[in-house]
Amino acid sequence: NRKIIFAERPTGEVTRSAFNFVEETLPELKEGEVLVKNHYISIDPYQRGRMKTGKSYAKPMDIGDVIVAATVGEVLESQSDALPVGTMVAGYLGWQEKAIARAKHLQMIPATGGVSPSAYLGAAGLPGVTAWMGLRLIGEPKPGETVVVSAAAGAVGSVALQLAKNAGARTVGIAGGAAKCAYIVDKLGADAAVDYRADDFADQLAAATGDGVDVYFDNVGGPVSDAVFARLNNFARVPLCGAISEYQSKPAPIYNLTQAIITRARLQGFICTDRMDLWNSAVEELVELIAQGKIIFNESVAEGLDAAPEAFISMLSGGNLGKQLVRLA
Ligand code: NDP
Repeated sequence: NRKIIFAERPTGEVTRSAFNFVEETLPELKEGEVLVKNHYISIDPYQRGRMKTGKSYAKPMDIGDVIVAATVGEVLESQSDALPVGTMVAGYLGWQEKAIARAKHLQMIPATGGVSPSAYLGAAGLPGVTAWMGLRLIGEPKPGETVVVSAAAGAVGSVALQLAKNAGARTVGIAGGAAKCAYIVDKLGADAAVDYRADDFADQLAAATGDGVDVYFDNVGGPVSDAVFARLNNFARVPLCGAISEYQSKPAPIYNLTQAIITRARLQGFICTDRMDLWNSAVEELVELIAQGKIIFNESVAEGLDAAPEAFISMLSGGNLGKQLVRLA
């Protein structure tokens, strides 16, 4: 079996030296275990977070750990009646070609679910559920309100934007570059898109949010969020989902918090696993919306385990459109 382990804790931007490829022979299966061949491994910003020590919502990776990641794959051998050979499963098996896992730690992917297995790593998986939790539990957009989403062409942002649109809100997506902005309007159906890399970003944002901002779904933090804060309406809601602009550098100057006082905005950080009681119903709803065409998604797919470090480094600076995956099959 080939796997990628965490080799070196990066101090600034991640480079390939953070990763090492390792070959190993897997042991025999024990009762209750299955051998899974991963078809897709997930590339996510939180993997950068797990490379850091310090207080967080999850334990950091140790040097030598397989890179933590959600996966979908196929049961090759089974010592569990619950998961016969050939079953497609989702789990957290990390960046490796195969893995042995206890059947109870895996989730069966329905053969007739109406969505592709890889969607369980994206719009019908952790990113989709994250969007659902932040928007439904904190953002709570009402019809006619203006919802702004940052990193809107990404895995979480694209679902958050479409959920807001389905709720009857006016939607504005923020992303880097003209191609992503065109995708946000033409494919995701947003009312407007704003390029945060453009020199006139603040003017574009002001034009796109003429009635102010009622909900800001924040994936990026930093200067982009400062600009959106200047547009908040009274009693705006701000689900703080991520701060990717700060993951590889020292924290940017704090948000324009005076704006939150003036507007009495409600800011709330959240982690998608906070409400595990709602997880399955969120997935069910997302699968249904995808099957109905009310949520569409794109996947950026890199080929082969060797491509994973590069795909990760590229995703952190916007190389992906929609969910970044690596295909192993
Ligand atoms: P994406 O698919 O959105 O990929 C990351 C994107 O971030 C890039 O494509 C890039 O898009 C954008 N980006 C990178 N650097 C910057 C920058 N300096 N300023 C603005 N945008 C930047 O990833 P995910 O959808 O998986 O994650 C999105 C956010 O959600 C992350 O912050 C992540 O940590 C967070 N998250 C939070 C969870 C929670 O439970 N709270 C769970 C899952 C994710 P562009 O080309 O537009 O710059």
